[in-house]
Amino acid sequence: MRRGLILFFTLFFVVLQAKSFEIIMPAEKKNVTTNNYAFIYGKANPAESLSIDGKGVYVAPNGAFAHSVKLQEGENRVLIRTVYGLSLYKYFKSTPKSQEISVEEFEPVKAYVNSDNIPLRSTPVDAGLNRIAHLFGGTHIVVNGSKGSFYRVHLSGSKDAWIAKKDVTLTDEDFYPGEFINMDSERYKNAMIQSIAFSKKLPYTIEDAEKEIIFRVYNPELSEESVYNLSIPKPKRYAYSVTLDEGKYIFKVRKLPENINDITVVLDAGHGGTEKGAVGCLGDEEKNINLKIAQKAAELLKKQDINVVMTRELDANVSLDDRVNTSIESNADIFVSIHLNSIGDVPMDIHKNRGTSVYYFNNNSKSLADIMLREVSHYAKTRDDGVHTASFQVIRPTDYAAVLVETAYMTNPMDSMLYTNDKWIDKAAKGISEGIIRYIKTNKSKDE
Ligand SMILES: [Zn+2]
Repeated sequence: MRRGLILFFTLFFVVLQAKSFEIIMPAEKKNVTTNNYAFIYGKANPAESLSIDGKGVYVAPNGAFAHSVKLQEGENRVLIRTVYGLSLYKYFKSTPKSQEISVEEFEPVKAYVNSDNIPLRSTPVDAGLNRIAHLFGGTHIVVNGSKGSFYRVHLSGSKDAWIAKKDVTLTDEDFYPGEFINMDSERYKNAMIQSIAFSKKLPYTIEDAEKEIIFRVYNPELSEESVYNLSIPKPKRYAYSVTLDEGKYIFKVRKLPENINDITVVLDAGHGGTEKGAVGCLGDEEKNINLKIAQKAAELLKKQDINVVMTRELDANVSLDDRVNTSIESNADIFVSIHLNSIGDVPMDIHKNRGTSVYYFNNNSKSLADIMLREVSHYAKTRDDGVHTASFQVIRPTDYAAVLVETAYMTNPMDSMLYTNDKWIDKAAKGISEGIIRYIKTNKSKDE
């Protein structure tokens, strides 16, 4: 009798353990949030019926599941259960009070930009696509308004921009207008360079217009409309840069090489080391999958005699600055950052929040993004999740064509069937290498 009882309990616990589910996200059972949705994912036995908040949830054959729950104001209890186990998760949701701050106007004050690469923005918000230039340290500017953590920068009579207060130092020094020194223009087979020198560093903007790239330098203390315009017609596949050499702005627009063997490709496996990236339904870490895809894509490109540079070849931390520096120092023509996507606390649609998407920041990278999406979703047989713009640091440089590929979603149960399979990794890599090759090849077509 006793032995029977022990056997019964042993079996009971074995069954319970074998059939219990595991929640990967959220990491804690008690959560405080301002989001309207809670996104929950993990793994469970597909043979059992899993329910979250009373709703049946799809479990992929490999056990992956993902589901989002709408939250009410205050405390929310979310019950996750199967026939054999249950877990209770709590969310305390509050709505942040939005306070509209208005622009505070003041008399023009002179200021210096504190360091290199400081974003000048079209709106006083620290996010998104509102960057219009990156100023050099020591640039003289005039500010005449403030909103939240930003100053309004006066550029000319008709043009203002915004800069973060932390990035500038106000001064009561007597500034004098920048003095124009000279201007020069050089033409090469694959590039055109214009330069303009002033007695001091001045703010500038750069515009990728329909047919040309326009570089504008503002001399805001002189007169209301003291703007210097330089413009260079743009070729079909192009890249551009602005550098500063002893007071001289060097503005360069170049044509990307037409021959595959003249191209340098930088492959950037996202995250690495202690930065895991997204964690998938089964607990897989994005950084490892990114590296596998990047290594395979590098192998395929090298077979075509394409010069490939990797930003990391190991499971190591590499800063975003280093990834950009590697690309600029190796004179990259094409830069591809490889990632897998994830969603946050938003309403999840298992059929929509999946597949491949490609991001770019500058117009010169849009055609690479379009071709990349087409090739990756074709070879990897993934859902077309679109081409989008986004302000990711690694794709902001204009010195080369730069895209970020989200090959699939770590947080989608159906996509988890793909990225855990080495054959699919090879296909995603094939898509990336084909995207690069096709992009270079279409550069050769007539309409230049
Ligand atoms: Zn990532």
